[in-house]
Amino acid sequence: MRIGGFVPCSLNDFPGRIAAVVFTQSCNWRCPYCHNPALVYPEQFTAPIPVADVLARIEARRGKIDGVVVTGGEPTLQPGLAAFLGKVKRLGLATKLDTNGSRPAVVQALLASGLVDLVAMDLKASWARYAVAVGVSTDVAAVQETMAILAASGIPHHFRTTRWPGFSDHDEAEIARLIRGSTHSWQEYRQGPSQA
Ligand code: SF4
Repeated sequence: MRIGGFVPCSLNDFPGRIAAVVFTQSCNWRCPYCHNPALVYPEQFTAPIPVADVLARIEARRGKIDGVVVTGGEPTLQPGLAAFLGKVKRLGLATKLDTNGSRPAVVQALLASGLVDLVAMDLKASWARYAVAVGVSTDVAAVQETMAILAASGIPHHFRTTRWPGFSDHDEAEIARLIRGSTHSWQEYRQGPSQA
């Protein structure tokens, strides 16, 4: 697993928990408003932090944290994600996965294995404008499938949407319709440090 950043203690990223946050490198999307371009564009990647070092730092914080968030980038692209989450769970810590929802099979397998306690999934735009929102042509059916997997899983999850520049009233109305009955939060766009 390629880890590009680590925050040892956050009060904001895992509702109800004090959590470490692990930032994975690489993403299959290119959202023009992305707040973490250094985790998306390979030419901006720093040398990865060894996974063993991150696990050691997490283990050293046991008793001070009760959860670990894995975010990105897009964590489901990482081949070592399940193994990493398994090691975190064996430390007695809860896990949260942040995902863009593009890899339903990975999410399904993680949930079926009991490796994730909470999922936060982005909803970017109305389906017709998804490619505009994510900067590449994309498989909207895969995003829809991930939504359905989460809905059927019984595992706590929530959706979130950033009102990015260009986000339209139609996007907002369609997302409001889609998430009826689900937990969802709106986030306002803020300019990142080196917007691509
Ligand atoms: S899916 Fe997330 S990490 Fe990937 S480019 Fe979009 S905003 Fe950035």
